[in-house]
Amino acid sequence: MSPRSSTKETMAQALGDFFSSSPNGMTEEVIEAFGRIVKTKDGILPPRVFLEAVEHSPVAISITDTSANILYVNKSFVRLTGYDQDEIIGKNQSILSYKVTPVEVYKDLWNHLLDKKTWNGVLINSTKSGDRYLADLTVAPILGMNGEASYYMAIHRDVTEVHELENKVNNQKVLIESVVDAAPVSIAMLDRFGKVLLDNQAYKKLIGDMRGEEPAAVFLTYLNDVIEGGFDASANEGRDFFDIEVEYDPGEGSPPRWFSCSGVWMNSAGIGADSYFATHDDRHLLLVASEITIQKQQQEQVRANALRALMAEQQLLHSVRETLSGALFQLQGPLNIVNAALKIMERREGKHDEPLYQALVEIMHTGEKVQDVIRNSIPRQQQEAMAPVNLNEVIRDVLDLSTERMLKEGVVIDWQISKDLPVILGLQYGLRSAFKQLIDNAITALNEPGCKRREIVISTAPGEDHIELVVRDTGPGIPAEKRISIFEPFNSEWVNSPDSSGMGLTIAQEVALQHGGYIEIDPSYTDGCLMRLGLPLKVSASLLTE
Ligand code: FAD
Repeated sequence: MSPRSSTKETMAQALGDFFSSSPNGMTEEVIEAFGRIVKTKDGILPPRVFLEAVEHSPVAISITDTSANILYVNKSFVRLTGYDQDEIIGKNQSILSYKVTPVEVYKDLWNHLLDKKTWNGVLINSTKSGDRYLADLTVAPILGMNGEASYYMAIHRDVTEVHELENKVNNQKVLIESVVDAAPVSIAMLDRFGKVLLDNQAYKKLIGDMRGEEPAAVFLTYLNDVIEGGFDASANEGRDFFDIEVEYDPGEGSPPRWFSCSGVWMNSAGIGADSYFATHDDRHLLLVASEITIQKQQQEQVRANALRALMAEQQLLHSVRETLSGALFQLQGPLNIVNAALKIMERREGKHDEPLYQALVEIMHTGEKVQDVIRNSIPRQQQEAMAPVNLNEVIRDVLDLSTERMLKEGVVIDWQISKDLPVILGLQYGLRSAFKQLIDNAITALNEPGCKRREIVISTAPGEDHIELVVRDTGPGIPAEKRISIFEPFNSEWVNSPDSSGMGLTIAQEVALQHGGYIEIDPSYTDGCLMRLGLPLKVSASLLTE
């Protein structure tokens, strides 16, 4: 007897015991199937091992005839369904149906089996006590010697909890995605190389606004400059950051946009099989950017208004000071004459009692009293301390203040500033005021007769020991004979702006001198007026202590 036939006999006996209720003929074919399996390199594996393995398998196993009538169930099947082996054998597998699985599913199952193919799917089953559970079922045909299916074998396990868990995770994912998507702030999840893995609707809209530029890349480039020690998305030790204001310049003349950016690094567990035992944490950056352009514009508006009011007040005070000083000066002339007349009369004897002498004394006293009153009424010059000043910011502030007027009057402005202008020590308000006077004069000049084009060019250039700020206009220019007198107070010769106080250049010159600098008109420029305001890079110590 060949080992093969002895296996068959052993199997026949074993299966005969096992499937006590099996129909005739089944044993031969099942033995044949087992015979193909149990023949190993070293000999024969006892079929009992297979039978025990099936019987004690942790998954529910059943074997049916081709009409799904149950011939065998293992212990796990009994545990899962609640049916004893005795009561279920001979019943149809449909006994497990909870009667809610769509008929198409069963059709698919049977179509596979009729095609001699394995089917896998999920059915809603019922236990003996009527409890519903979700069965992950695999059904396979067992083919006989003739190549036709003689039996079906089913393996199924309860996946109700897994399904619940999956649904919970999915629901949470949908919930989180909806919340994140509906958030009015841009949110993006980046890997440690700065690549965007997830984003929300607001972030997607931002990509459109930035014409395809990656907003995260724009923000991180800016953050790299402003975060102490630099910001490196790929660095493992990247630190969290909060509420950092980022300015984005859309270019093409559009106003800048502002974002408040926060970033939190998160450790996520790896999902690959190799991360099951070894921890492979990956770092991700949650980047949140909320637009604060409107708040910034409002702040800027408030600041500009405050600046405008302050500068108007300073100009008014300056005018009052100059007016009262002028009045003092004007009064001094007649008083000097009265004083001289009194001196002459005093030298002539007996003139003290004359009414004219008394009247002159009275005039003199009253005049001196008026002078005192005027002197005491002169508002004191506000003392401003020298502080670091960025001239480009000063120019920007003043241009902000003058934009409305320039737009209204159709003035074209060209701003040719040097970006690497050093910060100087100076009078913040004084310099703003001086520069504003120059700009106001340039705009006013463009309204004068003889103006060809309406252009103003502003430029800054760092020199060896000073910075020069140039304001050039295309107005009528200033004739050579007036290039000194125009710096005197109340000297206004505008034809179309007769109400001008004539204090602008006086103020500007005073500020230049306070810095140890200068203000001058370039005589070689003939297309209008070119004013140079020169400010020393280092203010002399004597000016600092003043
Ligand atoms: P049925 O009339 O029995 O079947 C519905 C549709 O299935 C029919 O319209 C028909 O298209 C097709 N169909 C049914 N029997 C056959 C057949 N003999 N040949 C060709 N097509 C057929 N069902 C469960 O609900 N839970 C289970 O755990 C489960 N396990 C199974 C395990 C095995 C090994 C097999 C073979 C079937 C299993 N079934 C199971 C399917 C079960 O036999 C029934 O088909 C199903 O329960 C539907 O029963 P029903 O009485 O509602 O309708």
